[in-house]
Amino acid sequence: MRIRHHFSVFPIPLRSLHRSFFSLLTRISLSKKMKQFWSPRSINKNKAMVEKLQNHGIVTSDEVAKAMEAVDRGVFVPDRSSAYVDCPMSIGYNVTISAPHMHAMCLQLLEKHLKPGMRVLDVGSGTGYLTACFAVMVGSQGRAIGVEHIPELVASSVKNIEASAASPLLKEGSLAVHVGDGRQGWAEFAPYDAIHVGAAAPEIPEALIDQLKPGGRLVIPVGNIFQDLQVVDKNSDGSVSIKNETSVRYVPLTSREAQLRGD
Ligand code: SAH
Repeated sequence: MRIRHHFSVFPIPLRSLHRSFFSLLTRISLSKKMKQFWSPRSINKNKAMVEKLQNHGIVTSDEVAKAMEAVDRGVFVPDRSSAYVDCPMSIGYNVTISAPHMHAMCLQLLEKHLKPGMRVLDVGSGTGYLTACFAVMVGSQGRAIGVEHIPELVASSVKNIEASAASPLLKEGSLAVHVGDGRQGWAEFAPYDAIHVGAAAPEIPEALIDQLKPGGRLVIPVGNIFQDLQVVDKNSDGSVSIKNETSVRYVPLTSREAQLRGD
């Protein structure tokens, strides 16, 4: 089918022509600066990735889809060429950024605990991708805290977040990433509605259960070689209900020294 282009010419007052010319110039120079982060092609690829996850029934809610569409995974990975492929990818320091379907699954499991204004803790925040998605979902009235024990990863995650749609939340302070041992949680903003752990613990750290709000949910991979993604719901009386969601393979939640030794 041939596509016809129609052009119409309207009389434009000179002053507004001037204005639009300068705004066009600003837009061009801005878009040049932003190109490495926000090229339309990468936005389309990110959107296509989310659509695929929807078609496979992994992303089922609009809120999760919107957050994943807003936060371009391409700015969080070291190799943009395979940013949208459904695979984990090395980020140095003997660890990986999780595959998109794992991020999507955890967002879905936590979705009801990521409503605007809620508080969320991301343990082992790595690249900051999921922390950014959480922050977008809970919004500026909420709080999203990442804890990561490799200082270099914290520094690069801040840069990644600054280049993403979550940047204003980082500036406002509703999103923050800290260097620390995530097995201790982050007591400052506890209790949390949602806690996500991005590395496999031999057993559920007590501090994380303590820092969960009654009615809150913790999603954590548990185990050594064979691991289960566990969903821990805190009941109103403070007791917890635990269920195994699926078998998974994560890097260990461990000490910084053991991780860097590659134990
Ligand atoms: N969810 C992140 C990273 C997953 S890899 C992402 O997808 O980008 C797991 C991360 O947990 C790594 O960055 C690792 O350095 C971190 N980690 C492991 N043990 C930790 C601990 N005790 N405290 C804080 N971070 C830890």
